[in-house]
Amino acid sequence: MKALVTGGAGFIGSHIVDELLLQNFDVIVLDNLSTGRVENISGRVIHYNVDLKDNLDLVFAKERPDIVIHQAAQVSVSYSMKNPGFDAEENIKVTVNLLEACVKYGVKKFIFASSAAVYGAPEYLPIGEDHPVDPLSFYGLSKRNAETYIQMFSNTFGLNYTILRYSNVYGMRQNTKGEAGVVALFIDQALRGEALSVFGDGLQTRDFIFVKDVAKANVAACHYGDRKTLNISQGTKTSILELIEELYFNISDSMRPSFHDERPGDIRHSLLSNQEAKHWLDWEPSYTLSDGIQLTIKYCQSHQVH
Ligand code: NAD
Repeated sequence: MKALVTGGAGFIGSHIVDELLLQNFDVIVLDNLSTGRVENISGRVIHYNVDLKDNLDLVFAKERPDIVIHQAAQVSVSYSMKNPGFDAEENIKVTVNLLEACVKYGVKKFIFASSAAVYGAPEYLPIGEDHPVDPLSFYGLSKRNAETYIQMFSNTFGLNYTILRYSNVYGMRQNTKGEAGVVALFIDQALRGEALSVFGDGLQTRDFIFVKDVAKANVAACHYGDRKTLNISQGTKTSILELIEELYFNISDSMRPSFHDERPGDIRHSLLSNQEAKHWLDWEPSYTLSDGIQLTIKYCQSHQVH
């Protein structure tokens, strides 16, 4: 089976590539390296350095993938608020471009990286897939629009799909520049001996999921979860102070947080139910926060730029 992974040089996409290779898929990566890195891509895959807004006929006609796993995106919420047009091009237009190519070249399944950002402010916790969808950012809105396009392509042209809405993903190869996840930022600050920047009182909670579990969910979706929209999360809440505690044990007891004003628009608590994904994908997260943090710290220590 041949899988085409967009954004396969990025954080999550590169782990999906690794997991697909472990499961003996043939893999192709489409990535323009705008935020991804070529060293993230295994030497065993073909990489096309293309912009997904361009015509994709040549690649699809040559490679004829069975499955498309779409991870490439404009991923920054704050950037989307300043550049909604660019965000829509990258997250909606690119998705539609890919969907057209999928239909034209007989792709059997489309797997999409969506986000908890589609839900907006939680009305209750944990958030199940039937929670109202009311994005608070252009990023959340573009992800929601992409989901709706996928569903309409499925209804109109019969394209099979699984939409995966990720909670906060962390792990090896996460960018520490731009709008990195809090885990990557904290580890980077801690290894540099800087204070950890906490916005607000640190009691806000997040649902952190390790990147290898997200990769496994994507590969499970190659086989299961047809025409489903599923949350991919750990299903547990961790406060920022608890996260710091975990890092404290693993890095240094001299580490200190520095508290700043709460950022406008930050959600206080976030927790996604993963019951549906467990049921439909025959998947469950296998790394505890402690396991994942230890692996991430080891990776960051061995890749630290001095
Ligand atoms: P990332 O920036 O590491 O990866 C995105 C990849 O896409 C990069 O390699 C980049 O070079 C590539 N890319 C972007 N635009 C492209 C284009 N026009 N043409 C070709 N390649 C392009 O981001 P990530 O954190 O790995 O995110 C992967 C997906 O998961 C995204 O769709 C993101 O919205 C979604 N997501 C991530 C998180 C998280 O916590 N990281 C949470 C929810 C959803």
